[in-house]
Amino acid sequence: MNRKPVIAIDGYSSTGKSSISKKIARELGIVHLDTGALYRGITLFAIKNCTDSNGKISSEKLVSQLKDINLEFRNEGGELVLYLNGENVSAEIRTVSVADQVSFVAKQPEVREFLLQKQRDMAREGGIIMDGRDIGTVVLPDADFKFFLTASIDERTRRRHTELLSMNQSTDFESVKENLIVRDKTDSEREISPLRQAEDAILIDNTNLSKDETAQKILEVVRGKKL
Ligand code: C5P
Repeated sequence: MNRKPVIAIDGYSSTGKSSISKKIARELGIVHLDTGALYRGITLFAIKNCTDSNGKISSEKLVSQLKDINLEFRNEGGELVLYLNGENVSAEIRTVSVADQVSFVAKQPEVREFLLQKQRDMAREGGIIMDGRDIGTVVLPDADFKFFLTASIDERTRRRHTELLSMNQSTDFESVKENLIVRDKTDSEREISPLRQAEDAILIDNTNLSKDETAQKILEVVRGKKL
């Protein structure tokens, strides 16, 4: 391969997109950008600063305060860590409360517009793997490689449940499953940049594959093609 590739990874919630992308980035010596973290960062800001009298996120308040949000990834020992207005929020964006509200925030057109340029700017130099929901379709339609990940709902729930328990977040299997179902439905049905497989994306069902095996499949395709 002569130049470093641009790779788009989209798919359903808890298909392992981010950890698989991280492995691939390490193997290929390219940057990994987890775009879900950006939507989660904005959601955390909204929970803290943009709620109405019932405690629900107000899209009007959020839109008027987007200009006050500064999201940046800082490289800390090879890991990209998300900072929201100067504060490390990498753990806080993984809470159940953020997960429950992120799809509402992500369907606001102004939020998507706000993040679109940021994501494209980060890919301009090439050598990047970006994971999300609309990377192959909207953010990087000219990516060199596009993959779309899926897995059964029970397997995805099991993975997410295990991850939450490992972070000491008390939750039960059924609530996790419900969150994944609702999130995927909202993400797939929204008007702007819905979650869907790009026509030229390769579909991988990893219900019975480990993260390493999924990463290997993707690497085989990427290494097999001359750029
Ligand atoms: O990938 P993750 O599960 O962290 O994404 C959280 C949420 O952010 C998704 O459920 C979706 O609502 C939103 N998202 C999006 N577009 C992306 C990445 C994430 O709408 N490119």
